[in-house]
Amino acid sequence: MSDGLVFNETLYPGVQVSYGCDRILYQEKTEHQDLVLFSNPVFGKILMLDGVTQVTTADEFIYHEMMSHVPIIAHGAARNVLIVGGGDCGLAEEVLKHRTVEKLVQVEIDASVVEFSKEHFADFNTGVVDDPRFELVIADGMKFAAETDRTFDVVIVDSTDPHGPGAVLFSEEFYRNVHRMLTPGGVLVTQNGVPFLQRDELVTSIERFSRIFTDAAAYIAAIPTYFGGHMTLGWATDNADLRSQAATVLQERFDAAGFQTRYYTPDVHAAAFALPRFILDAVEEGRAKA
Ligand code: SAM
Repeated sequence: MSDGLVFNETLYPGVQVSYGCDRILYQEKTEHQDLVLFSNPVFGKILMLDGVTQVTTADEFIYHEMMSHVPIIAHGAARNVLIVGGGDCGLAEEVLKHRTVEKLVQVEIDASVVEFSKEHFADFNTGVVDDPRFELVIADGMKFAAETDRTFDVVIVDSTDPHGPGAVLFSEEFYRNVHRMLTPGGVLVTQNGVPFLQRDELVTSIERFSRIFTDAAAYIAAIPTYFGGHMTLGWATDNADLRSQAATVLQERFDAAGFQTRYYTPDVHAAAFALPRFILDAVEEGRAKA
């Protein structure tokens, strides 16, 4: 540890997660947020925005595989994909593994996050910016969604938490604009927090999804550096059958995709929608409030 330096994440009152810092690799106060990248002996490189852990080189594969392969494999014919946020480009790398994806648009508010990620996160975003299918738009995702006439089969919101620049991406107006951008049967997936500690975030998103989409749900994954247990990924679509695809169909599509994964499997995909009682209660509460 360089001189015992630690970075503390203090998202929840009374809870502090401390990461030892071997070396600060990059630090900048950008137009939108405080950005620090440092190395840690256990999790490798850790990116924090406004004091909140965003991504680490050690466990990014879990979150990025589950945010990308679940909606794309479930959809089965996703050609046009939109990522809102996702500045570290780890999610984009996973989406571009699908040869069937013809176009990936990424709308990120903070150019600095993308710029420094090209240099410091080559571990997991190699080739993204050079891929002819990839289009980067530096803009507020809320404004893009309100103004665009482009349509997408899958929209993935890899945002910060619902405060600061990310707050608007949890609004009903934003979800309504996403619904307008989606092709028939298209699906929206959102970063929706750790329900054991951020229950209201999930209830509110499900409530808003339920007023706009036929099917409002969530699936789960366990990401070590998103402290507090299961992470929920919000799920909204007008195709209610999309999340209950047969395991054989998921397996066929995954085999046809022809790439290796470290977390995602078709069985993990199917099982991820089986929610523990306390999380299902939050989803049902959100639906009932709509
Ligand atoms: N996986 C992380 C998490 O769960 O907290 C998120 C990672 S990613 C780095 C979050 C990205 O969202 C950041 O690059 C941030 O700049 C971007 N972002 C925040 N608000 C945004 C907005 N309104 N429009 C577009 N991008 C936004």
